[in-house]
Amino acid sequence: MNSSPLTISMHELDNVAIVANDGGLAAGVVLASGLQLRDRVPQGHKVALVDLAADAAVLRYGIPIGYALKDIAAGSWVHERLLRMPEARGLDNLPIATIKPAPMPALQGYTFEGYRNADGSVGTRNILAITTTVQCVAGVVDFALQRIKAELLPQFPQVDDVVGLEHSYGCGVAIDAPGAEIPIRTLRNISLNPNFGGEVMVVSLGCEKLQPERLLPPGSFAIADERGPAALDVVCLQDDAHVGFMSMVDKIVANARPHLERLNARRRETMPASELVVGVQCGGSDAFSGVTANPAVGFCTDLLVRAGASVMFSETTEVRDGIAQLTARASNPEVADAMIREMAWYDAYLQRGKVDRSANTTPGNKLGGLSNIVEKAMGSIVKSGSAAISHVLAPGEKLKVKGLSYAATPASDFICGTLQLAAGMNLHVFTTGRGTPYGLAECPVIKVATRSDLARRWHDLMDINAGKIADGSATIEAVGWELFHLMLEVASGRKKTWAEHWKLHNALVLFNPAPVT
Ligand code: CA
Repeated sequence: MNSSPLTISMHELDNVAIVANDGGLAAGVVLASGLQLRDRVPQGHKVALVDLAADAAVLRYGIPIGYALKDIAAGSWVHERLLRMPEARGLDNLPIATIKPAPMPALQGYTFEGYRNADGSVGTRNILAITTTVQCVAGVVDFALQRIKAELLPQFPQVDDVVGLEHSYGCGVAIDAPGAEIPIRTLRNISLNPNFGGEVMVVSLGCEKLQPERLLPPGSFAIADERGPAALDVVCLQDDAHVGFMSMVDKIVANARPHLERLNARRRETMPASELVVGVQCGGSDAFSGVTANPAVGFCTDLLVRAGASVMFSETTEVRDGIAQLTARASNPEVADAMIREMAWYDAYLQRGKVDRSANTTPGNKLGGLSNIVEKAMGSIVKSGSAAISHVLAPGEKLKVKGLSYAATPASDFICGTLQLAAGMNLHVFTTGRGTPYGLAECPVIKVATRSDLARRWHDLMDINAGKIADGSATIEAVGWELFHLMLEVASGRKKTWAEHWKLHNALVLFNPAPVT
């Protein structure tokens, strides 16, 4: 691609830039500015643009991502071992709703083909989900799923898939302890995800702590259609009626049939883009995440908000160091307070485990050029675009409003995706720099590569190449629009993501901050 040296700065105040060239740049190379490199600088890593005295702030995104531990000459490779991390930002005296983003013009006329549900939500897929109350039943459910897929699914061509909502929760846990409400409401709300058409079917063991009525109490899943208040459809494996394993399997298969019949009768209808509920997150980040893919996602987030859609960004530990930006962008003081409450809860959660902030960045992040969590946070927050943040969700809660929301979740890819599913996500956008084959059975996942090198090597895993931005062959805006149009195609079922094509499905991982017994 680029043979001439290429570096990228994010802000006019920055005193470091990122080397964009594949393979990095050798010592002695002269940049367009005339600056000569003193060290070899790997791709995605930082080069000092000016002489930095010991203790000087190293600026990226216009803010200090660290302080020089010793004098660093212009042209040097600025790596994590040369930086002292900034102190953690406290939660006092934060700017509250001080930024009033200029109102963005409404974006009208964009539609997709989706499934309207009785509760008013819209699905992008037509999937039968079988809820489980406890891990004990997972093997039996998997066995029954194979039979349902082989024997029933071919009779119901309008149904995209049947999935088991399997998890490690349900028993052997302190189910009344503080924090236990999080995994329980997560599982409840996932069962009600718009991609499942309001069909709730449960498989339980019988003796577990998480009884079906506790998971889905009467009224929690009332389906407002002609069937009236639905009785919970439960197959209980310990039921005396079952004699032998096949009796259990037969019962699960038989109970699946009426759900499949109702799902199969549904047809896609034209929906405004405002019915999209998009969760964005990143995983396997590198220094390009915050330069190419995340800014393009941020531009697309603004397009979605302008179209009246719902967008969630998450990953508390990755945005915590940018808290002052976020509270400033809150649409009102209540939203800022909710954000501070979620951050304070997470700070206390981490302190309980004696975890410090350096625990977030992975060896892969550092190899990719991200020095610390402050630099990672700035690159992560840009996914949220520029709109006001109008709502905050605690982990596992269901989203009920349009616009840009902060859904508090851990940064763990699987836990974040699981909690965004519980919030009602019907489309997932995932950026990656190092590369991950991540996918979910419950919802399409569009993966955005931060570098062209990754997009070339993983050509049948990455859906969008944002590396074109670093190559200089596309703008952030162009890739943002490309993503927006792809989202409408994927939401309509006209296009499958690569993760769907290969059926790459990561496990649901519940966030359980309560003790295990
Ligand atoms: Ca993540």
